[in-house]
Order: sequence, then C-alpha cells, then structure tokens
Amino acid sequence: MSLSRKPTKFIFVTGGVASSLGKGIVASGLGTLLVHRGINAEIMKLDPYLNIDPGTMSPFQHGEVFVTDDGAETDLDLGHYERFLHKPTSKAHNLTAGQVYENVIRKERRGDYLGATVQVIPHITDEVKRRIMTLARDKKAEVLIIEIGGTVGDIESLPFLEAIRQIPYDVGKANCIFLHVTLLPYLTGAGELKTKPTQHSVKALREIGIQPDALVCRTEVEMDPSLRRKIGMFCNVEERAVFESVNVQYIYEVPLMLHRQGLDDWTVKQLGMEAPEPDISDWENLISGIRSAKETVRIGVAGKYIDLQDAYISIYEALKAAAWQAGVKLDVCRIDSETEKEELAAELESCDGILIPGGFGPRGVEGKIFAANLARERKIPFFGICLGMQVALIAFARHVCGMEDANSSEFKEKCEFPVIDLMLEQKAVLDLGGTMRLGAYPMRIKPGTKAAQWYGTAETSERHRHRFEVNNSYRPRVEEKGLVISGTFEETDLVEMIEIPDHPWYVGCQFHPEFQSRPLAPHPLFRGFIDAAIKGMRAKGAGK
Ligand code: GLN
Repeated sequence: MSLSRKPTKFIFVTGGVASSLGKGIVASGLGTLLVHRGINAEIMKLDPYLNIDPGTMSPFQHGEVFVTDDGAETDLDLGHYERFLHKPTSKAHNLTAGQVYENVIRKERRGDYLGATVQVIPHITDEVKRRIMTLARDKKAEVLIIEIGGTVGDIESLPFLEAIRQIPYDVGKANCIFLHVTLLPYLTGAGELKTKPTQHSVKALREIGIQPDALVCRTEVEMDPSLRRKIGMFCNVEERAVFESVNVQYIYEVPLMLHRQGLDDWTVKQLGMEAPEPDISDWENLISGIRSAKETVRIGVAGKYIDLQDAYISIYEALKAAAWQAGVKLDVCRIDSETEKEELAAELESCDGILIPGGFGPRGVEGKIFAANLARERKIPFFGICLGMQVALIAFARHVCGMEDANSSEFKEKCEFPVIDLMLEQKAVLDLGGTMRLGAYPMRIKPGTKAAQWYGTAETSERHRHRFEVNNSYRPRVEEKGLVISGTFEETDLVEMIEIPDHPWYVGCQFHPEFQSRPLAPHPLFRGFIDAAIKGMRAKGAGK
C-alpha cells in the first residue's frame, strides 16, 4: 500500500467584466459544498496589488482587514472562506504580488539565481506556484480552490494568470478546473441579458492561454436555457458547465443555489473524484429560520466608515449570526460617530443595543466616548470591540471615577490620565515600528462574570489587532468603582475584557471576536449581547 497522498486537485476562480461580482462568495459556496461531500477543500486568495498585505490600506480602499490566528492581516475574502467552510485560514492562504516580488528580490540579492536575469517568467511565476504548492501540501488539501483577485484584462493580474496557466502542465489537466465568474448585464431598454461582455472576457482569457471549463454568470434575472446554450457555444464551454449566480437575499443561500444547479456534482466528476451527495440541511435550516423570523432587533453600530458596506463586514455578519440563532432578524442602524451630540443621542436611543467597533486614529473618537457613556447611563446593551472597549474605559474613568482628562495616549499623548497607553517595552521600540499585537492569544476568564457565563469555559483564544492596551496602573481605581476585569492575558498581565455587572450587558473586549463567529456557530459574546438587546426590546414591547 502506498502511503503517499493523492495529488491535490485545483480549481482556479477568475473574474470577468467587472469587480464586485461575488467571486469570493461563489468560491466559498463551492468550497462549502465540497467540504459537505467529505472532501478536504481549502481556499486561497491571490491579490495582484503590490502591498505586502492590506494592513496598511484604508478601509476606503480595501474594506475590512481580516486577521488570522497566526497574525496575518489579510483580504476580507478570507473572512468569507472561514464563515462558509468553517475552518481557520492562515498567512499562507493569502498571497499578494507584493509578497511575491519581495521574496524574489530577496533571493536575487542573496545570489540564489546564480547569475540569471531575473524575470516575471519564470521567477515570479515560479514563486507564485511554489506558494500554491506549499499550501496544498501543508494542508494535505484534496482540492485547493484558488481565487485570483481583480478582473481578467488588468495588467496587474497577468503574472498570476500566467502562473495558473502553467499549473495543468505540472500536475495534469485532469486535476485542474478553470472557473470564470462573469457578468451578464441586464439592459432594461432591450429587456434582455447581454452576453457580449462575457464573450469578450473569455476571449481575453483565451488570449493568455486559459480556456475556462465552467462559467458562473452573475445575473439579476434567471437565464433561460437558450441563453445558456448560446454562451456555451460562443465561449467554448459545455452547456451543462454554464452556471448562474442570480441575486439572493442572503449570501448563505449561495451554496444552496449552486447545489441546485449541480455545480458540485459537475466539479467532482470533472476532477474524477468519488464523493457522496452533500448533506446541506444545516444551511437550509439556517435560511428557512431567517425567513420565518418575525421580530427584528435593532443594533446601532457607531463608527466612522458607516457608508462602507465592507469596512465592518465581519461585525455585521457576526451580529446577523447571533440574531438568527436567537430567531430574530437584524436591523443595523449605522451611526456616524461624528454626528452632532443631540442627534447622535436620539439615534443611539432608538436602538436596542449599541456596538462600537475597532478603529484607528482620533477622528470621531469623542462621539464614540459619548455613545459608550450614554449606553452605560441609559442601560442600553453595549458591546465595545477593541477601540470600542478602550472608549468605554475612557468614558468610565471620566464620568464614574472623576478622571476628567482620561484618554488614550493614541489620541492625547500628554493627557493627565492615560488609561489606555502603550506598554513600556512598546515605547522602547516605537521608533522601529512593528508594535502591533496581532493574531491569537489565550485569555483567562474570571468566574462568575458574563464572559464566563457565555463562553462556558475558563480559557479561550481570541484574535487581536491593536497597539494600545489598558494601563494597569489605573486598574485599582476603576475596579473600586465597579468595573470588572473579566478576561486577562496572564503571561504579561494584560486586560482582555471589561464589564459592568449592574447593567443588562455592558461588555468590552480588546480582541476581535467577530473573526471567529460563523453563521452556523455564532460567537458567544455576540450571542450574549444580542440576547440582552432582545430582552430589552421585548420589555419595551418593540421589535414587531
Ligand atoms: N487604535 C487602537 C489601538 O491601536 C484600537 C485598534 C482597534 O480597534 N483595532 O490599540
């Protein structure tokens, strides 16, 4: 008997015509179906930009930065992968052109290329392939889905496309699928879906040597069979391999929609694999549960990127997951923390719960401190995440402990009471940069607290992305006034969670619980928060 592992099969997902087609969701949807068929499937994202990672990019450019257990700052699509496939991703799951070039140039300086002229082909493309193969091997993936960022036709993504074009020659064509996600625009005037942009985008792919095996057409109205035939013929794709991704109300319907069309069946056969039909009743139950929910809980999210759908995407998904598990729908009220006080107060008070997400920089912070204070005084369920916890502590120090000039040294360096501050050893290396606390750290939970009640364990692990910490020298003063430190990182004695016992739910955490929440397994802290918000809503007789 051979002990060697069967070679990994590859599915390359490219995008055509326009961005924002939901390529990541389609890749995740297919991945979900494969996992439910018992296949060890993994997903990886290739990003064509030159940044090493999105950590330094503004949310306007890039939406949320998703953080993995091993402390990588990655593309938000990795959040979708984790929520759909229900397994953690890592640094190795997100490759950027910046990382590829950095590695190749480092090798060149070291003399690794032995006098060769270093070029895009083969050196950059080999580096891309090396990273893909390393992930496939390390994860013992039976199927590795590789999503290529950007749109076919962009200059940026060419080296990545060339790298994946070569892979069938390395591993055998029978082990690879090229799946192109494309757009079928609906022209109201003509009253029909247009196929020409798709034809041109497939033509662009073929010009660089890639013939797609399957198409997933993003469309607002369902395609009829004659259109499928036409697209198939013009794009040289079998008719039964032309799928559609039609608008759905909830993204978690996508696996169900793809399964109904037989995408997973086609994929498994195409790759010559044997795998039983998937049992997707958990996702079906989730969707039917959402549809039958009658009440709606209203949660205010007070931040500075309220117009951006993607800036707090994991927070929104975590709130939804918790609400759905509680059998209610979620209405998010996005509140701009820079709004003038009176209006801000009215908006906040119209909510059943208030959440303040993470953030960097001073803009809008005073509004967040105001919101945290209002939630405490009016006993509105409150959940502060990272910066949200820090402002809650500042509000408590100012208004309960009488430390009027309490602040974070991030916002006021020389304040009288820097209740949030850099650690001493961070100050020493500040000039060198690189002081962010990133990735998973263990947390010890204090018995008898809300944290202990909802986690149900004494210890857990949560992901971080921040620079500033609760200043331990002020702990006795705030504790004396009733603030409870309910979670700590014992090794260096850092505060991880705070809460106020005499309040329906006033909880803050230094970490980002939203990254570990899943639609089918909501995070305990989000559940606790939503539970309190629902209780308050019912007490008011609202929610209908
Ligand atoms: N700006 C704060 C810090 O660096 C909070 C960061 C965050 O909310 N992710 O500590």
